[in-house]
Amino acid sequence: LFISFEGIDGAGKSTHIAGLADAFQSEGRAVTLTREPGGTLLAEKLRNMVLDDAMDPLTESLLIFAARRDHLVRVIAPALLRGDVVLCDRFTDATFAYQGAGRGFDVKVLATLERWVQSDEGLLGDPTGNQPMKPEVETVIEPHLTVWFDLPPEEAALRLADSRVPDRFESQPVEFFRRVARGYAERQLGHPERFARIDASQNREAVWQGIRQVFVEKGWL
Ligand code: C5P
Repeated sequence: LFISFEGIDGAGKSTHIAGLADAFQSEGRAVTLTREPGGTLLAEKLRNMVLDDAMDPLTESLLIFAARRDHLVRVIAPALLRGDVVLCDRFTDATFAYQGAGRGFDVKVLATLERWVQSDEGLLGDPTGNQPMKPEVETVIEPHLTVWFDLPPEEAALRLADSRVPDRFESQPVEFFRRVARGYAERQLGHPERFARIDASQNREAVWQGIRQVFVEKGWL
């Protein structure tokens, strides 16, 4: 099971991802808890490059997708093969929202990179050698479910202001986050069955109950 968590900065993902990891573990499920950009030594280095230095949006997108490929090869695909529940703080929807909608980069290029990077060719083969490594039909790996923390950008900005030192994205003007939020809303329209929208402006307990309910309805918790 592959679950991603999305939303603009300040939407409150981290606490609830940790809560879900606990919930799965207490049912005896193995959990791989990870994040993007990052999740491997190499991908964390790429993350720091992206967060520390300004660069043109294609360079930025290539670094983020390079990090994603390494993460898929080393962490996500092996975890899915073991049968772990993979909980990933951000995945490709973030690239469409931040680099696409936020920075105005060509989403057709992002969609091409998505197909290349997330191709399961050579990723999900059977490591025992009993099955061919090359799947008959190439598929694009994507989350089974994406929990989208939807929060008005103005409110997210208020929350961030008194919580942490901003990175180069978090210090963007609120107009940037309005575009990112619209980007997420568009992604949901394109993938309605994968996205679960959570109203992140509610109090923490209500947000948690909303998330839990999604997993209970699917029979996963
Ligand atoms: O979610 P987290 O705070 O770890 O993300 C780190 C930063 O990277 C965030 O400020 C987010 O805006 C940015 N980011 C990005 N493009 C992505 C993923 C994250 O600009 N595709």
